[in-house]
Amino acid sequence: MKKILFLLLIVFVFSVDSFAEKVFFADGSRNKKEIALTFDDGPGYNTEEVLSILRLKKVKATFFLLGESIESKPYLVKEIAEDGHEIASHTYKHINFYKYKYKKTEDYNKLKDKISKNLLKNQRLIEKFAGYKPKLVRFPHGYMRQPALDVARENGYKVINWSFGTDWNEFDSYEHLLGAYLEHAKPGTIFLMHDLKDNSLLVEMLPQLIDILQFVGYKFVTVSELLNFN
Ligand SMILES: [Zn+2]
Repeated sequence: MKKILFLLLIVFVFSVDSFAEKVFFADGSRNKKEIALTFDDGPGYNTEEVLSILRLKKVKATFFLLGESIESKPYLVKEIAEDGHEIASHTYKHINFYKYKYKKTEDYNKLKDKISKNLLKNQRLIEKFAGYKPKLVRFPHGYMRQPALDVARENGYKVINWSFGTDWNEFDSYEHLLGAYLEHAKPGTIFLMHDLKDNSLLVEMLPQLIDILQFVGYKFVTVSELLNFN
């Protein structure tokens, strides 16, 4: 009897584990010297400059595109896709879902509906301009609570946050910004940056960040490559 119970327990644990497939990620494996560069909120002012740096350095990155930005610069989505970068979703509007409370089931469902509408509206835009459905989503402000994880899972997305990012903070020189990113470079790191606004420090820093990390043996890959989703 004890043996049967033990076997049942193993079957139960195994099935619970395989049911709850992992949907949230902020790092890759620490065993491989690979890093993923990610750019949020675009396409925008800095996108073309970022693309030309990546082209020159022969590096592939991942762009988490915002629907409202796509609508203002749709031609850039095609350019990002043609350069072989990974296109991912940052949803349609930059909504801070942390503001919404959901103690009651009714509120939980309402919030899920809001998140899902934003995700699907952006999916249609990306499909239209890039020609494929993205597999990855980063919710605005790194929102990662259960309603968003449920929506992502139901729609076949993985939720991707980041290991380190600081380009939205004020730095007095690009060297200081570079130092901050270098300090956090580890195998499996996902770096967050932004390409929506004019950020001269970022575009000054980026080529050097790539050169230095390649020199010490890092390879730059897309997020799907870093996490072995392909
Ligand atoms: Zn954002």
